Amino acid sequence: MINPKHVGRIYVLYGDPVAHNSQGLSVDSLQSLLGARINGDVWDGYVDFTERADPDNQKFIDSENTGVSDISYEPNVRFSKSVGKSSLEISMLSENKIPKVTDAVLFPEEAELEKMMLNLKNLGIKATIFGGGSSVTGGVSQKPADTSVSIDTSKLKSFEMNNRIAVIGGGMTGFQAENEAARRGLTLGFFPESFMHSSVAGWVSTMASGQESNRYGDIEDLVLGVEIVRSDGTIRDSITPRNSIGVSGKAIALGSEGRNGIISKVYFKTHKKTEERKYSSFFFKSFSDAIESVSKLDTFPDVLRISDSLETEIALSEAGSSVMKKVLDKYLGVRGFKSGCIAIAIDSGNSYKNIRENAAKISSTPAKMWEMTRFERPLVANLLWKSGMVVDTLETSVSWEKAFELYLKVKNTFNELLASCNIKGFIMSHMSHQYREGCCLYFSFVLNTPKKTEHLQVFRKEIVSAFLKSGGSLSHHHGIGTQLSGYLDESHTRLMEMLADPVLS
Ligand SMILES: Cc1cc2nc3c(=O)[nH]c(=O)nc-3n(C[C@H](O)[C@H](O)[C@H](O)COP(=O)(O)OP(=O)(O)OC[C@H]3O[C@@H](n4cnc5c(N)ncnc54)[C@H](O)[C@@H]3O)c2cc1C
Repeated sequence: MINPKHVGRIYVLYGDPVAHNSQGLSVDSLQSLLGARINGDVWDGYVDFTERADPDNQKFIDSENTGVSDISYEPNVRFSKSVGKSSLEISMLSENKIPKVTDAVLFPEEAELEKMMLNLKNLGIKATIFGGGSSVTGGVSQKPADTSVSIDTSKLKSFEMNNRIAVIGGGMTGFQAENEAARRGLTLGFFPESFMHSSVAGWVSTMASGQESNRYGDIEDLVLGVEIVRSDGTIRDSITPRNSIGVSGKAIALGSEGRNGIISKVYFKTHKKTEERKYSSFFFKSFSDAIESVSKLDTFPDVLRISDSLETEIALSEAGSSVMKKVLDKYLGVRGFKSGCIAIAIDSGNSYKNIRENAAKISSTPAKMWEMTRFERPLVANLLWKSGMVVDTLETSVSWEKAFELYLKVKNTFNELLASCNIKGFIMSHMSHQYREGCCLYFSFVLNTPKKTEHLQVFRKEIVSAFLKSGGSLSHHHGIGTQLSGYLDESHTRLMEMLADPVLS
């Protein structure tokens, strides 16, 4: 018999419910762009979960059958291990559209993984791996199977040093792993904005990129090898400074997004902590000037982020009408940089000194402020969601010569859509993660619409199409998850199918 059972309220926005907003953010500019009050009183970020669970299905997933001693059937646990942090999921949840919820959550110890995968295969149960749950692409959504489970990796939390290599349990969060490294005077050098919540194996599986990638590299540069547990056995990479021994576990783990096995251990390079960091901030007259100037550099600061004029205006509105802001406005006006684009640079070398062409140096405060708040900035989106808005980000990688054209195409596409949907909203962008060949362009947009999910889907589709038509990639670092996988060409889809584990596909 199926019983409806009301289980209460679950917070679905990013981060902690109490850390909900953006102290100091001036909402005036947002209100005028969106034509709405931004005071967070439309939605509290919680969802009422009324479930209709089938207890028989759950009984079948017990410790004896799966080989995992710790299993949760608690509705709120199952719910929160079935959703990630993508805007599509949040938008649907805000409209009370509840996605498929897993039948059970397994919390395996490392020693239970092999048996569990084999058992799940024999039982015909499909599984989704849940790391930090910060996926923004529907990566932790449930499979459309009769019986499905979530495998939570939070018990995979070991950390040990093997010479200069950190051997890290895949379920450790970035924050925990970096703390362990820091206790030894080292750093992993990997700082995604989701650093507090995302897991080390999650980074590998989504091909993530940290904010200091210019210095330390992207995830593929930092990982020497992995252990990956599949239903047909475990692949353990041999760990040497480099090797040339055929296809590795690392090769099938990178970008696997939970399909090719459970990444149980990650062998991470470490670095000595940098003694000195130099902070500087600049202004460019326009985004095209900024792209052109940076494209000519041979080396880049550890962090270099350049905002377009709208992102700059919103960022500076945080300074309100302070004396410092007035002085800055005056200075920029006199130098012809009014309505320009702010760049912040953090460097342990001297690459920041090369940013001279077309740029005006200003106080280093914006760079320092950015660093101080860098893991809290996503919480600004919570205030917008709570004010009834839809917020999303999409990012791409593009060569220097096509970057500005792509930027314009995305903005024009977005503005045309606003007009055709007859709604208010805005889009802004910044450039980050520079390479000799090109950069990442990161777009954030907000919509004020009563048709949240419907419009979000339309805008996402058109923006991604604009990326692809302009020579950009599907993603630079968020991955594709379930939401963008439909854009893959046939050869890549086939490759993914070939590598996929039957339990996870
Ligand atoms: C506010 C915010 C900021 C973000 N900033 C960045 C950023 O700066 N850079 C960046 O690259 N990304 C960023 N992201 C995206 C996200 O944090 C990354 O994709 C991250 O790598 C996901 O890690 P996770 O542990 O949360 O994975 P999850 O969300 O749990 O899972 C993501 C995918 O990895 C799979 N997976 C998880 N653990 C394992 C495992 N042990 N073995 C195999 N597969 C596994 C899952 O099945 C899923 O397909 C951000 C997300 C948010 C919400």
